[in-house]
Parts: sequence; C-alpha cells; structure tokens
Amino acid sequence: MTEPARRHIAIIGAGAIGVISAIELLRDGHRVTVIEPATPGGEQAASYGNAGWLSTHSVIPPAMPGTWKNVPKFLSDPLGPLAVRWSYLPKALPWLVQYLLSGWTDARVEATARALRPLLIDAPALHRKLAEEAGVGHLIERQGVMHVYPSRAAFDADALGWSIRKRVGVTWMELSADEMRQREPDLHPRYQFGVLVEEAGRCRDPGGYVAALADHARSLGAEFVAATARGLRQANGKPVSVLTDKGEVTCDAVVVAAGAHSKPLAASIGDRLPLETESGYHVMIESAETGPRTSMMASDAKMVVNWTDRGLRAAGQVEIAGLAAAPNWKRAEILRDHLLGMFPKLPKDLPPAAIRSWLGHRPSMPDGRPCLGYSSASRDVVYAFGHGHVGLVSSARTGRVVAQLIGGREPEIPVAPFDPKRYL
Ligand SMILES: Cc1cc2nc3c(=O)[nH]c(=O)nc-3n(C[C@H](O)[C@H](O)[C@H](O)COP(=O)(O)OP(=O)(O)OC[C@H]3O[C@@H](n4cnc5c(N)ncnc54)[C@H](O)[C@@H]3O)c2cc1C
Repeated sequence: MTEPARRHIAIIGAGAIGVISAIELLRDGHRVTVIEPATPGGEQAASYGNAGWLSTHSVIPPAMPGTWKNVPKFLSDPLGPLAVRWSYLPKALPWLVQYLLSGWTDARVEATARALRPLLIDAPALHRKLAEEAGVGHLIERQGVMHVYPSRAAFDADALGWSIRKRVGVTWMELSADEMRQREPDLHPRYQFGVLVEEAGRCRDPGGYVAALADHARSLGAEFVAATARGLRQANGKPVSVLTDKGEVTCDAVVVAAGAHSKPLAASIGDRLPLETESGYHVMIESAETGPRTSMMASDAKMVVNWTDRGLRAAGQVEIAGLAAAPNWKRAEILRDHLLGMFPKLPKDLPPAAIRSWLGHRPSMPDGRPCLGYSSASRDVVYAFGHGHVGLVSSARTGRVVAQLIGGREPEIPVAPFDPKRYL
C-alpha cells in the first residue's frame, strides 16, 4: 500500500465530527489545524447536549410516507414534538418540501435506511476504541437501548420503520408488560410494551467525550485556532486558505464540519446546499435518584431518557425555526413534565435550580442523510456535515471516511448516497 501524501488540513468545527476527523487525519500523518471559536465539547455544539444514543438502528429518516398529513399540526401546535415556527415558514418551505418528498414512499425511506446502516453499524465498538485511546473508555457503554410504548398496538403503528430496520439487519427483543416491569421497575405502568435493541450503545457524557477527543487530537499534534471561519478562498480550483475573523489559515485541503453552521461555508465556494437546523432541547435533573436502568425512548413523547455523568437527561423535540430564533423554553418544560410522568418516583417539587435546560441545533439535510463527500469545486474540500439526528453515533465512521476521502482512497463504506452533489 502506498503511503498517503502528507498535507496540511484545516478542519472547520470541533464538534464530534470535526474532532474525530482530526484524529483520523493525524493517524494518516497529516498536519491538522482545527478552527473552532468555542471550547470543543462546549454547550454551543449539538455534540454537547444530545441524548447520547449510539443507536446503530437509527436508520429511519425523520420524514416517512404520510408525514405530509401532519403538516397542519406542525404549523398549528407550536409545542408539538415537531413544529415549524410561522415566522420562519417562508424560509423553511423549500427544505420542508424536499423533506416531505424524500420520505414520500417506502422505497425512498428504505434507500436511506440502507445508506445509513453502514455509517452507524459497529458505532459502539468504534467509539469505545476512540474513547479508550483518549483515556475515557468508561464514557462509552454497550448495554443496548430500549423503546417503550403504551401498547403493542402503538408499536404496530410504527410497523413500517421496524420492518425496514429488520430488512437492513437490525435485530431486537420484544418485551411484554411483565418483562418491562422486571427490567424497569420505576417506569410508569402506562408503558406496556418494549423493544430492546441490544446492539446499540450509549455515551455517558457526550460533551465530555468530545472534549477528551479534542485533547487527544491535541496530544497527537493538532493545532487549535480559536476563530470563526467566514469562508474559503480558492486559487485555480484549490483551497488555499480558510478566511476567519482572526485572519487567514493557509492549507492544502479543508474539511467543513461546522454542523448546522456549515451552509454559508459551502456557499462561499458556490455550493448551495439545503442544510437546515432542527432545534432540539434537553432537560437534566442533576441529582435524580431514580430513572431508567436502560437508556430508553418514550415513543409517545419522542424523547430519549439517558443517565449521563452530569445527571438524568431527557432529550428530544424538533422545532424548525432557524439558527437565530430565541429558545422556547416551554419545550424544555414539556420534556421535564414527560420525564416526571415516566418515572413517578422522581420528586415533583424540584426547584428550578435542580433542572438544567439546553437548546441545540441538529444539522439536518432534508433526506436525513449527511453531506459526506467532495465539494463540487474541488476534491480538496470535503464536506462532513448534516448528520441530523445521528451525528454522534455516526461520527466515528464519518471521521474515518473523511480521512479516506482526503487521502484519495476508496472509502470503507458506500458514500454515493451522501454525495453533496445530489443537491447541486
Ligand atoms: C436534542 C438532541 C438530541 C440528540 N440526540 C442524539 C443522539 O442520541 N445520538 C446521536 O447520534 N445524535 C443525536 N443528536 C444529533 C447530534 O447531536 C448531532 O448530529 C451532532 O452532534 C452534530 O455534530 P457536528 O460535529 O456536525 O456539529 P456540532 O456538534 O454542532 O459542532 C459544530 C462545531 O462547529 C463550530 N462552528 C460553527 N460555526 C463555525 C465557524 N464558522 N467556524 C468555526 N467553527 C464553527 C461550533 O462552535 C461547534 O463546536 C441529537 C441532537 C439534539 C439537538
């Protein structure tokens, strides 16, 4: 095998995608500069406050056949699990149309599931290895995750998603009400049916994990520049620098991994990609004494409950309101109320200071697939953004693929479905 050419790579963004890409590029012997204005793993990043699921089975895109029927609800119920802010509708409309169309038929949903599965498979093992290298192996656990439903009929209503999961190789165990009670004695008895996906894992502190990976990248030689990228500058079709608010960073190649903020960076070299943000929230009870034994998703609330090293976290909600919208903390209160309802032994009179709330921005493409591939302008600009609801779980494989693309090698998984040019 030929040695990869050593070059200077600038990575924009130090979320999960950026820092893991940095580690994989350093492994190939490249010089790496990470441009990030904030603390890696800090609250500004979606990678900080997500639910921590390493769910290898999260292959079903957000839009499904029939989702269009819910559009009036998206618009009329501002606090529903998925809502579009009226004031943002004109801006979001083209994205929403593409979103609905990409889930219009079973075949389209299955195509996305087949594309995503290789990106997610083995994620707990890949993350565990990375975490061990970074000295935080304990943050990644491979104990399975659970979906809980009020009834078997409610599970059956999700049949399309589960049948597609089965076709792409996901296996699971179904749990009766009694089996659920034995496993989850503190869960409210209104949940009568469960699905345990044993292959999935979880992260005990996504923000701490990303911070540790950034430290690891630093120890391998990455340089971190505290700056905000404003665009890319090219000469003869090649990137020569990243323009930042603190000056130019010259380089041989660029990886754009600025999460939901990546759109203007791609546009600076002419790639107008339909990246939108799906805002999400979490609430965290820092000193909870009861909760799930296995990390779980409540199907009725579309909310994941996960123990983290910072407290008991409930994360979910989707709001299409753009990056500039002020948080709507009522959404966090909805998550809190669901959480307290799920685990009746949690105290109902918690003082506000005992609960922390957070808003994050998922970087979302309409079809639920990331942009992972070369820019239209040059093979020296690689896009690695738009991972939507699965950016943590998929970040380990994404980082490897980024290094393979930069090195001009054949990626280890099929990446044609993620080609940014599908929208150009
Ligand atoms: C409520 C919620 C729950 C979620 N649950 C899960 C889950 O359980 N499992 C899962 O896999 N995924 C989950 N996700 C999705 C996941 O968090 C994201 O897909 C993932 O974190 C995206 O990672 P990223 O590195 O692309 O972006 P980010 O983590 O957002 O990082 C981007 C970084 O780029 C920096 N940046 C931005 N603009 C610039 C610029 N111009 N110049 C330089 N740097 C810049 C930012 O400061 C930031 O640090 C969830 C998301 C939310 C909101």
